[in-house]
Amino acid sequence: MRTCSVCDREYPRAEPWRCSCGAPLDYAMQPLPDSQPGQFSRTSGVWDFAKFLPMDERVSLGEGWTPLVDAPGWDATFKLESLHPTGSFKDRGAATVIAEALEVGADRVLEDSSGNAGLAVASYAARAGLDAEIYVPASAKDAKVRRIERTGADVVRVEGSRESVTEACIDAVEDGAGWYASHAWNPAFFAGTATAAYEIAAQRDWSVPDAVVTPLGHGTLFLGLYRGFQALEQAGWTDAIPRILGTQAVGYSPIADDDEGGTVPDDAAANDLADGIHIRDPPRGRQIRHAIDETDGAAVAVSAAATERERDRLGAAGFHVEPTCATATAALPEFRERGELQDGDDVVVALTGRND
Ligand SMILES: [Zn+2]
Repeated sequence: MRTCSVCDREYPRAEPWRCSCGAPLDYAMQPLPDSQPGQFSRTSGVWDFAKFLPMDERVSLGEGWTPLVDAPGWDATFKLESLHPTGSFKDRGAATVIAEALEVGADRVLEDSSGNAGLAVASYAARAGLDAEIYVPASAKDAKVRRIERTGADVVRVEGSRESVTEACIDAVEDGAGWYASHAWNPAFFAGTATAAYEIAAQRDWSVPDAVVTPLGHGTLFLGLYRGFQALEQAGWTDAIPRILGTQAVGYSPIADDDEGGTVPDDAAANDLADGIHIRDPPRGRQIRHAIDETDGAAVAVSAAATERERDRLGAAGFHVEPTCATATAALPEFRERGELQDGDDVVVALTGRND
């Protein structure tokens, strides 16, 4: 059973992909384990956390259990999500959304993406023997598109904005072309990204940091972290929820803008480097704002210049990431200046992806 996040209407598991009111759907219940962690297996990727996951089918390419490493130059700890099989944290959600596709009997999945989510969904669909159709911007880099095509997925290039790519994919879903495995809409995807929170807690012996920082576009990891830390607290495995801090790209920063956006001048050029978070109207915006309110979180917008500088700085320290990911560490000084982070705070930053 799934319910609407806005009007509480109830729906069966497989369809529709959103509520008749237009809002995203979520599982009616968050599964919780009825015992303490005890001896913990680290052998089955996201499925080590099966007791928190709403699906029974399993698909894995070895996602999860990414290292949590000290980053003294940033006075933080980094979660190296960039080391995933297809190069980003999206593998967590792809594993669970494709498992859900098997569970509801879908044989063809559709997704729209600027790159990482498309590659992850196509790869996990291939692993599960499902057909995949991935919608990408016509401007997407050839290397990214080729990587998706190598999985055997059908790639549909769409001219225009990132929004037109989503519209084309949704039209195809509405026409019955397949099941929408969306990293923005499908609750199964967020069940998977929540495992990042379970892992962070497990790797810290079931303690939580003061704050976690992640790039913020559709909120796929942002909301996954919030939901995961919430579930851990509800299960009694941890006793607090960290502040969830998000970083957006200047020119594409709806959440940072209503959070007073930091110190971005009105005439600042759009951050075209951080293309993984070029989302002006995230379908789960209401939920993202709620998570910020509930955790005393925040969001800031990061410029292209700061993104580029920070990516070089990360590379010099051995952290090789894509530009979108560099926004997360680039924003740390701003969060500290604004008091969203205090001296001595225990901070985990998600290095989300490595694909160029
Ligand atoms: Zn509704």
